[in-house]
Amino acid sequence: MNLSYWEHKTWLSNIDFTIVGSGIVGLSCGLNLKQRFPKAKILILENGFLPQGASTKNAGFACFGSISEILSDLNEHSEEEVLGLVQKRWNGIQLLRKTLGDNAIDFQQLGGHELFLEKDSALFETCSEKRIDINRLLRPVFGGDAFHEHPNTFRFKSIGDKYITNSFEGQLDTGKMMARLLQLVQNKGVTFLNGISVEDFSDSSSNIAVRTDRFEFMTKKLLIATNGFASQLLNEKVKPARAQVLITKPIRNLSIKGTFHFDEGYYYFRNIDNRILLGGGRNLDLKAEETTALEQTELIQKRLEKLLREVILPDTPFEIDRRWSGIMGVGDRKRPIVKQISDNVFCGVRLGGMGIAIGSLVGKDLADLV
Ligand SMILES: Cc1cc2nc3c(=O)[nH]c(=O)nc-3n(C[C@H](O)[C@H](O)[C@H](O)COP(=O)(O)OP(=O)(O)OC[C@H]3O[C@@H](n4cnc5c(N)ncnc54)[C@H](O)[C@@H]3O)c2cc1C
Repeated sequence: MNLSYWEHKTWLSNIDFTIVGSGIVGLSCGLNLKQRFPKAKILILENGFLPQGASTKNAGFACFGSISEILSDLNEHSEEEVLGLVQKRWNGIQLLRKTLGDNAIDFQQLGGHELFLEKDSALFETCSEKRIDINRLLRPVFGGDAFHEHPNTFRFKSIGDKYITNSFEGQLDTGKMMARLLQLVQNKGVTFLNGISVEDFSDSSSNIAVRTDRFEFMTKKLLIATNGFASQLLNEKVKPARAQVLITKPIRNLSIKGTFHFDEGYYYFRNIDNRILLGGGRNLDLKAEETTALEQTELIQKRLEKLLREVILPDTPFEIDRRWSGIMGVGDRKRPIVKQISDNVFCGVRLGGMGIAIGSLVGKDLADLV
């Protein structure tokens, strides 16, 4: 497509920073760049009509890692590294709350519970035994004991009598979070172009030539925040991991409140607007879920429904209102990749299942690289 003189001059010339992707990382990066360089011309290019990866699709858990996840991380990482990971999540949530405000995102600290299926009783015993040590390790982050045992007050079926609960965990309204963040960045004067896919770029020493599916242009710096789609533009170790979700219609007198995970974190659910939002089941077919296709499968959706019926809402009738999926970016390490790729190209990708917790910080760290 040939751009008019006006289109080129107004939107696509003299660009200081171009950010690819308007998820939580791209937006936080834009916000921080504007704070550092108020006069800079900043462009955000987004493939979807809305952010279309994970940031508008997620479950809205403001979480730091369940006890079994932390124990499993300790098998792969040193105590210092695990403490660092949890500290980063804590700092990230504080930054997000400070930037957007608790009211604007409906942040509520209702606690996060790990449930143990009956088949996982040995795992519960191990977590229970190690709880005091883990609390001691994480005290510098939380300033108190994070994990305690909690009776099955919500009367879930086919799970052990006790949950292990982190009372510092919270939840937020994902839609409100992203709408507020978009509004803040737009108000700072950052330009957005949606429905544009970046296909390629080439870095010369002073400028980058960017090719999209509609036009080409030059930018001084390019910042890539495409997470699960990263391998389309970068040669980094990031794989897409699709996560499927469903939500019920409102349920009268729903007493379940909080965020919940089980089966080693492969399933998670929460209350929202008198409904239950439930996601997970990637482990049923990990290979098929290694995709960027925003679709659902019968295998996983049926399992989610079964879990609602048999474990989460065994005595409560419900109807499914909506189903969707989102794409995460994962790899063999938990740490995100925030780095300089070449003279003028930078990336902040691979946020795993913790992007709400760390997304604001990753965006800031990405902006700080330039
Ligand atoms: C179902 C689900 C549930 C989750 N639940 C939680 C949770 O409860 N708590 C939590 O902390 N995390 C959760 N996560 C993870 C979290 O949502 C992500 O880690 C986070 O949103 C990643 O943000 P991002 O900005 O890096 O990526 P994204 O939000 O995926 O943003 C990347 C953007 O780049 C765009 N893009 C990609 N390629 C191109 C291109 N070539 N050109 C232009 N644009 C492009 C995409 O359209 C997308 O909008 C969940 C994820 C999913 C999918």
